[in-house]
Amino acid sequence: MHEYSLIQALVERVEQEARARHAASVHRLSVRIGEMAGVDVGLFRTAYDTFRERTVCADATLDIELVPAAWACQSCAAPIERGRPLRCDRCGQPARLVTGDEIMLDRIELEVL
Ligand SMILES: [Zn+2]
Repeated sequence: MHEYSLIQALVERVEQEARARHAASVHRLSVRIGEMAGVDVGLFRTAYDTFRERTVCADATLDIELVPAAWACQSCAAPIERGRPLRCDRCGQPARLVTGDEIMLDRIELEVL
């Protein structure tokens, strides 16, 4: 499953950070997930709870911030309102996704001894 490989990559990333900072443990992770990222947040949480055992994230809370999709004209950068056709009213150019496709590790709270 897609979500499991995302979590695996996430935990590996956190392990690297924790090791680099000589952290004793990890308290909290904050992740931003875009509406258009193709991630099932429920599955993502389940995957995290399954995968984190015996990793540096075993006791770490997972915060997920959902990022709504936002579109803008690829030519003039005019924002395109939610629910409107994905084409610019002004210049007729197709829209591009500005936010909403990210899966981003935003913050890690570590305990350093
Ligand atoms: Zn435009």
